[in-house]
Amino acid sequence: MAADRLTPAGVPYMRGRNMSGAVVISERVMDEVRNMARDSEDGSETGGILLGFEEIDGSFWVTEAGGPGPLAERSPTYFCRDLDHAEVIAERAFSIDGSQWVGDWHTHPGGPNALSHVDLRSYREVLVNSDLEVFLAILLRPGLKGWQQPRATAFAVSASRVQPIRIIDLLGGRLLNRGIGTSRDDHISPRT
Ligand SMILES: [Zn+2]
Repeated sequence: MAADRLTPAGVPYMRGRNMSGAVVISERVMDEVRNMARDSEDGSETGGILLGFEEIDGSFWVTEAGGPGPLAERSPTYFCRDLDHAEVIAERAFSIDGSQWVGDWHTHPGGPNALSHVDLRSYREVLVNSDLEVFLAILLRPGLKGWQQPRATAFAVSASRVQPIRIIDLLGGRLLNRGIGTSRDDHISPRT
């Protein structure tokens, strides 16, 4: 697949049907998210913001992921980000490469593999107060080896819909290894 232009971050933008409606994220950033998600071994939710670009075909490029911040509120069923911390990360990312706040990641230590009404309400509040058409939510849960292999599912949240979307790496391959993928793919053996 040929790169036919660069995003403002200098990431090759590869057109193709595999890319539309997907989250494109590097292994490096996805590993950072997994590592931060492991704090949920203590039984409480955690999360952070996702920075990058929302493309007109409905796909997202994620260039950076933030952590919860020192003032985040965490409980087994609730997470609220440290907004000041998030804004500092977002401003820095924008100044570096124009990356915007496009979504959040967070964990559900006890399930379910779906966004809660509270999640949706907070994401739709962001939509009302931003230029985003769609908010990206990446949800992580323990995998077969608990938080050593968290499973990730991405959702595109609009004012009226919630749609699961694929997570793929920069080369267009699905990040199925190390627990990444939708729950439908859980039977697939991790690649090493
Ligand atoms: Zn949630």
